[in-house]
Amino acid sequence: MGLVTSADAATPAKELFGAKPTGSQQKPAPFGSYAKGCVAGAVQLPETGPTWQAMRLSRNRNWGHPETIRFIEKLSAFAAKQPGWNGLYIGDISQPRGGPMLSGHRSHQVGLDIDIWMRPGDNLSLSRSQREKISSISMRRSKGAYVNSDWTRAHHEILKAAARDKRVARIFVFPGAKVQMCNDAKGDRRWLRKIRPWWGHHYHFHVRLACPKGARGCTDQNPPPRGDGCADAQKWVNDILNPPPPKPADPNAPKPKPRREYTLSDLPKQCAAVLQSN
Ligand SMILES: [Zn+2]
Repeated sequence: MGLVTSADAATPAKELFGAKPTGSQQKPAPFGSYAKGCVAGAVQLPETGPTWQAMRLSRNRNWGHPETIRFIEKLSAFAAKQPGWNGLYIGDISQPRGGPMLSGHRSHQVGLDIDIWMRPGDNLSLSRSQREKISSISMRRSKGAYVNSDWTRAHHEILKAAARDKRVARIFVFPGAKVQMCNDAKGDRRWLRKIRPWWGHHYHFHVRLACPKGARGCTDQNPPPRGDGCADAQKWVNDILNPPPPKPADPNAPKPKPRREYTLSDLPKQCAAVLQSN
């Protein structure tokens, strides 16, 4: 790869990163933040492992920081012990060099975000084409205020195990699932702090790892508020069930600016080297 040309300077970063088929041959390192960064030395999650399958292989988003791959190995081995599960179906992690994507996510840019399907990984011999066609299963009812009958104790145990892993910073899941977990949790509740209610996230949950130790140039998010977050989640659910009246528009409010596409110069400076590396 040559130097960054002036054409590249104007090109949306998502086109530059989206064009890279493999990880960079560099020391593994996330640079920047989850929604504005890149990853050096990412490794590819094997398409099939003893307790997982990577889904939608055509997207080529099964690349992550080595710590992310180790996390998936461990969590999927735990999932495989749950009744009806032989492992996990893994959705998007990151592109080979991270960075913004042509479609889909804003985050997932530094190789530390993982989408994990809610559908139990029962069959781990799905072909490539089956992995393009098969869908996950939604766990929600009443617009996400409640879980539906596909939600099981195994889901609770798998999300709990993920939240208790020291490498995990937060987990995004729909509000009804968080409230269900709050209701079902026995004993230690500290792990619930990391389970964060969010829009969507009923076909998959999203695990976000903290910056690995010693990863200079990687920006952590502020930790979630103290406490188990259960009252907040319940409030969210109440608002789904009884939506509050819309706030009157403020005539003096500034017009929201359209979000500009990131170019390479918007990203941490290390990301140019990540792109240029072999
Ligand atoms: Zn995600």
